[in-house]
Amino acid sequence: MTQYSHILAALDLSEESHQVLARAVALAKASSATLSLVHVIEPLTFAYGGDIPVDLTEVQEQLHTQATEQLAKLVAMLDTQIRDQHVLIGQPATEIHSLAAEQNCDLIVVGSHGRRGLALLLGSTANSVLHGAQCDVLAVRVKPHQP
Ligand code: AMP
Repeated sequence: MTQYSHILAALDLSEESHQVLARAVALAKASSATLSLVHVIEPLTFAYGGDIPVDLTEVQEQLHTQATEQLAKLVAMLDTQIRDQHVLIGQPATEIHSLAAEQNCDLIVVGSHGRRGLALLLGSTANSVLHGAQCDVLAVRVKPHQP
């Protein structure tokens, strides 16, 4: 089996993130690899259009704080060491690619819903991460969260 040395798990912080994280942890243990986590917040100006004359800095900061807390909660539930927890702002695939290259990650783990049809044509984050990655990418098929 290929041994990895630094695995990066990309988490969207949905309920399904647990499945992606569990697989990344198992792989890190099996490879004796270090594991880092990343969540990317998309800039609000992109999400709502640049023409709206409101200052979204505070909201963006709140989102950053919430994401940092959510990541910390996920880490607290693990019985394994996490090297770094990154919360970045930008376009998810671009930020994940840059971080993986910067941190010399040799595997990126993402979730995949295995979409078909139009959603597949439009592309998903997993697809975008796969295209352009300089290292291996593992797409973990996630099952829909059932409360
Ligand atoms: P999606 O294509 O949005 O259904 O997301 C598929 C997978 O991409 C998720 O399970 C995560 O692994 C990753 N992902 C999506 N959005 C983000 C995000 N904002 N930050 C980090 N990873 C993400």
